[in-house]
Amino acid sequence: MLRISDIKLGTDDTESDLRKKVLKLLGVKNVKSFEISKKSIDARKKPDIHYVYSVDVETDNEEYYAKKIKNSQIVKKKTYEFPKCGKIDKPVVIVGTGPAGLMCGLTLAQNGYKVILLERGKCVEERMKDVEAFWEAGFLNPESNVQFGEGGAGTFSDGKLTTGIKDFRIRKVLEEFHKHGAPKEILYYSKPHVGTDNLSKMVASIRSEIRKLGGEVRFSNKLVNVKTDNGEICGAVVESDSGEYVIETNNIVLAIGHSARDTFLMLQNRNIAMEQKSFSVGARIEHSQEMINKSQYGKAYKKLPAADYKMAVHLESGRGVYTFCMCPGGRVVASASEDGGVVTNGMSYFARDGKNANSALLVNVTPSDFKTDDPLAGMYFQREIEQRAFEVGGKNYNAPCQRVGDFLGTESNSEYTVEPTYKPNVTWVNLDEVFPKFITDSMREGIVLMDNKLHGFADNGAVITGPETRSSSPVRIIRDKKTMQSNIKGLYPCGEGAGYAGGIMSAAVDGIKTAEMVAINNGRGKNEQ
Ligand code: FAD
Repeated sequence: MLRISDIKLGTDDTESDLRKKVLKLLGVKNVKSFEISKKSIDARKKPDIHYVYSVDVETDNEEYYAKKIKNSQIVKKKTYEFPKCGKIDKPVVIVGTGPAGLMCGLTLAQNGYKVILLERGKCVEERMKDVEAFWEAGFLNPESNVQFGEGGAGTFSDGKLTTGIKDFRIRKVLEEFHKHGAPKEILYYSKPHVGTDNLSKMVASIRSEIRKLGGEVRFSNKLVNVKTDNGEICGAVVESDSGEYVIETNNIVLAIGHSARDTFLMLQNRNIAMEQKSFSVGARIEHSQEMINKSQYGKAYKKLPAADYKMAVHLESGRGVYTFCMCPGGRVVASASEDGGVVTNGMSYFARDGKNANSALLVNVTPSDFKTDDPLAGMYFQREIEQRAFEVGGKNYNAPCQRVGDFLGTESNSEYTVEPTYKPNVTWVNLDEVFPKFITDSMREGIVLMDNKLHGFADNGAVITGPETRSSSPVRIIRDKKTMQSNIKGLYPCGEGAGYAGGIMSAAVDGIKTAEMVAINNGRGKNEQ
């Protein structure tokens, strides 16, 4: 396979223009196969904004072309291979059907293992109704919401599939997502996203494949305890609508996400080793998408997709402030999972065609900010802010909100005054009433510094809605680096909630890694572990 990289195309050019350009480079009329392997937008030198592509072609004389054409090379396509291991007698229980749990379950099932996936929330079709009821009328179902239910926390998201990790399993995740309904461009676009609309279909399709392969997926089934024998897992205690029951198993994968506070407590009570970890707290900032587009792309913005941004600044106080999970053309969503707490996050549809751009604006929080050395201190820190926001917002899940002009003390006369998108509604407040002082002080400083990087970021017509407390896990469930098991043999902390991933892709990759380790550990003789 010949890969030709760094092919530049104008913003008006189409993929058929790309093919023509490649055939011209090769000096041929046709090739055996033609596939885009990478696509990105280069907007560094405005107004010269263009697309940059890499393509893979199969043709005669590839060695010859690899020498002749600049930026070209011969590449071999790699396929994912699961380690070859023996059977496992009892089913592997996977707790949680977020990206980590789904990919763990799918990978094990594809390789002949019996899996039972437990999900405390409902299947995605039912879950969507509960989430709508919360957004429209403020009725929160603590077991079926934006955090809990099939697909996990990212189901109602922008579905950004970018990640900072480098791992050969990323390709497997993208291929599975595409096979289950994600658009083909996720396989090559430098900043792939699928949107909430695709995600809900994808997770349902993955569930069907797991079931076809003989796996079970049980909704409204919550892990409430683990049974051990001599320091090893021997059962999962499950709560369901028809009562409590036990599944006999020697392997439990804990892919529980960052919001399963009752499960964290249960694990702490069972002396599962956990430690405090740093995370971040802040709020969602919403700007006019048109303003962001102009700022990022200049005059060319109308021909390009909705622009995004990603910024980080370091303050003299030593705190870091950064933007996170930016959702172009998206909306701010109510993401609470506990009664009496307000939580925000962001989502968008694949088209990203909403009027507002939103992003989390986060301040880093470290264990030195907690009052105790309780491993769950970070979780209590989050909860305190969420409950204060509930009070300040009016005790009806309205989110506290403030215009950037008022927050910074600048005049509010912007031509880009935006309407907050959070539902059920917002309550206009002074955000200092919600957050510890170091958070609001840092956010203020951060906004002003970021305006130097992205003109308009401090626009006084923008709005801030919060709090955003659940951007990552407040705790780490400690696992052995080699075997990926906790201090209990057969218990595998996995994904974001365990503190080993951040975001859809890295959680999904961790799910596959965990699947491999479950198979490898069980395939080894007992004495080798
Ligand atoms: P989760 O997805 O949180 O899944 C955990 C699952 O475990 C949940 O379904 C929960 O119900 C279940 N569970 C918990 N406890 C139990 C129990 N005791 N018994 C049974 N089941 C249990 N990331 C991105 O990369 N891109 C984005 O665009 C993006 N946008 C986001 C938007 C929103 C609104 C939110 C909330 C998150 C977003 N994220 C995004 C983050 C991303 O969703 C998470 O990083 C990812 O889902 C973590 O995957 P996970 O499988 O580890 O955990």
